[in-house]
Amino acid sequence: MEIATFVEQLKTASLSSKTTIWADPSKADFQDSLARRTDVGKKQPGAIIMPASEDDAAKIVKLAVESSVPFVAKAGGHSAWSTIGSSGFVLDFSLMRAVEVDTGRQTATASAGTLIGDIVDAVAEQGYCRGLHTVDHRGGITVLAPLIGFGSDNIVSARMITAKGDLITVSKDENAELLYAIKAAGQFFGVVTSLTVKIHPLSILGSPEGSVWSASLLFDVSKAADVARAAIEVKKTTTRSYCLTGVMPAPPTLDPIILVLVIHLGSKADGEEAFKPILDLGPLAVPASSEVPFGKVNEGFQAFESKGGFKRWLAVGMTSLDQFQPEDMTRLVDQRGTITEKYPSAKPTGSVIEFTSDGPWNQVTAENETAWSTRDVATWCHLLCWASEEEAVDYAHEIAEESMRHIRRNQPKYQFSIYGNFSRIAPLEQRYKGAERLEKVRGLKLKWDPNGVFTNEFL
Ligand SMILES: Cc1cc2nc3c(=O)[nH]c(=O)nc-3n(C[C@H](O)[C@H](O)[C@H](O)COP(=O)(O)OP(=O)(O)OC[C@H]3O[C@@H](n4cnc5c(N)ncnc54)[C@H](O)[C@@H]3O)c2cc1C
Repeated sequence: MEIATFVEQLKTASLSSKTTIWADPSKADFQDSLARRTDVGKKQPGAIIMPASEDDAAKIVKLAVESSVPFVAKAGGHSAWSTIGSSGFVLDFSLMRAVEVDTGRQTATASAGTLIGDIVDAVAEQGYCRGLHTVDHRGGITVLAPLIGFGSDNIVSARMITAKGDLITVSKDENAELLYAIKAAGQFFGVVTSLTVKIHPLSILGSPEGSVWSASLLFDVSKAADVARAAIEVKKTTTRSYCLTGVMPAPPTLDPIILVLVIHLGSKADGEEAFKPILDLGPLAVPASSEVPFGKVNEGFQAFESKGGFKRWLAVGMTSLDQFQPEDMTRLVDQRGTITEKYPSAKPTGSVIEFTSDGPWNQVTAENETAWSTRDVATWCHLLCWASEEEAVDYAHEIAEESMRHIRRNQPKYQFSIYGNFSRIAPLEQRYKGAERLEKVRGLKLKWDPNGVFTNEFL
């Protein structure tokens, strides 16, 4: 069915008055709502449909499935995939941003358009925390991993619209097999209208009021290898830490600098002790270093979150710390230099390693067997290609692939990992590791979405 006819039909589908349909791309609101994390592959849809309720979302999806009109869901727009061409529509969840906290059950239920900050703030008001940095049914890396497991481990249940347009509950009691799939591959199985996740008392953070130590440190690029060596030592010796470090552009010139962002789930004094190997190297500057409420630590990462520009991102999993040699960081600095010399518009490009400590996981039950498949990753190496021209970002990506081959030189092939939230072109076996897991997820896809309503991934 033509998208214009579909939109006309929706007008008679008794949707609630708050549900909004935009079908005129010349309008500023329409264009503004298309802002995405990256302009690579960004398309203009035939319509943007914003359901105001779960029932409306289900009616819209059912009609789209019956009419064979393609669509894609959009929540925060921080991926490269919530985009579709003019024959389809974006199911935009911006109007469904609500969080219900149940302190009795220690859960929070977030509707589909909820952003990480919304849920972190809502649970903090009640004395609880949950993972940052992750949109659970699509991912899992989180600052809180040492204490509570990965983001997707913390999913309790979901409400989901299936490929037939049916609204179902997914939990350990209902449609339990889908719980396996939505823990890290949710976007390929249905439209999740709300997600219920575990929440944890702020006291697990090591201070009654739930503050943590958050700092950013800057070093000259000549210290790249020393900082990487010290960071790897921190990974080996701490149990409550998060660290991201590597070569990044320093404003306003965007010349390279070694940036270290750290979070310690505890006091500043304990954090400084944990990160002593890095602090001892004598940072050039310390733009931030204080105890902050847990929910505020995301603010230190805002530069990474901006929308627009051409970005391509490769997140390569290292399954042992020995696989990333400190000198690799110097090589990454040099590789960035090669890119920016040829294309100065690629100066926002950077490369970092990112890890959390191996902590006392057993404080909560983490589900081990799910679609989430990178528990064996000791540290991620993010190769973030970013430019204002597409040709430049493609060149940066070519160099990033070369860097990836280099840092994988000591890794057995079967351990290769790519974080699926940043790539859909890497081989599936590297994004969903383990033959048994892949077979299971493929079987579930064939059962629940055989016609690829939610992409042909796994088919
Ligand atoms: C700066 C930055 C930092 C990040 N850090 C982390 C991190 O630390 N840990 C981590 O795990 N991930 C991280 N990510 C990855 C991020 O979690 C994923 O890209 C996530 O999918 C983005 O969600 P979104 O709602 O903003 O994106 P969107 O682009 O809106 O959606 C992402 C995908 O999910 C689909 N989708 C959206 N809503 C629904 C729905 N209701 N039901 C089903 N499918 C839906 C979309 O169609 C699309 O395919 C980071 C991303 C960025 C840009």
